Amino acid sequence: MTTIIERQAGFCFGVVRAITASERELQKSNQLYCIGDIVHNNMEVSRLEAMGLKTVTLEEFNRLHDCKVMIRAHGEPPQTYLTAKKNNISLIDATCPIVLKLQKEVLNAYGKLKKAGGQIIIFGKAGHAEVVGLEGQTENTAVVISSPSDLDKINMEKPLHIFSQTTKNKQDYENIISLIKQRHKTGEIFVTDSICKKVSLRAEKIGQFAKSMDCVLFVSGKHSSNGQYLFNLCKQHNDNTFLISAQEDIDIEKIKHFNTIGISGATSTPMWLMKKIEEYVHQKIDSE
Ligand code: SF4
Repeated sequence: MTTIIERQAGFCFGVVRAITASERELQKSNQLYCIGDIVHNNMEVSRLEAMGLKTVTLEEFNRLHDCKVMIRAHGEPPQTYLTAKKNNISLIDATCPIVLKLQKEVLNAYGKLKKAGGQIIIFGKAGHAEVVGLEGQTENTAVVISSPSDLDKINMEKPLHIFSQTTKNKQDYENIISLIKQRHKTGEIFVTDSICKKVSLRAEKIGQFAKSMDCVLFVSGKHSSNGQYLFNLCKQHNDNTFLISAQEDIDIEKIKHFNTIGISGATSTPMWLMKKIEEYVHQKIDSE
């Protein structure tokens, strides 16, 4: 039996940046807060929490004073920066540069459309941190849609500017744009391709990887949007794909007869975890 970790797997650079910044800070002082999980992976969050990182909710953040708080790669709405200033909180801002650029584009588009009575549309998951950060650029007036059933929320007579959450599926984004174009009354629609290239390039490669393996262990936290998306792609190309978040989730009986076992993960899955899983699979299967 051979195991292969997909070459493209591991953290994206936005997540690496955020984790490196938190580790650097925790080496200096062992107290740092982070609004929400720094990465959608419980194992990595636990590792950093053992070093002193404390994850807080937005409500808890609003009550903090005179301390250091980390902004993760997903970014935050303008209100968070105002609260930090008011409460003497110094921010370690690890918003991914790609997300930061998108926030600026949404802000600019909102400035232009507001005068024309238009709407900003965000194709993404309502309540996801990145989406909340983008809505904040529009004074929370943006319309968030996640599927064709949400199209009734859009005023099809107003000018629109459509953006996507960076981790969405390219094909789904194109489909929803085409549906909006069919229904819109004036055709005054602007579209920004805001899907992260790191995610779309991985999506292209992951299917080939899954196809070349007898089975795939896809490692991801349950709340990772990008993990769910990449897992589904693997599954489409190889039905023997199993979603796991830790070695405890592996059913060895189901995989022990395969010759090649591929290991891959979301952009929020640490390489150390995939290596640990590889080791575990060898220990279990090679000893039988
Ligand atoms: S997936 Fe892309 S946009 Fe999101 S944090 Fe990673 S590099 Fe940045």
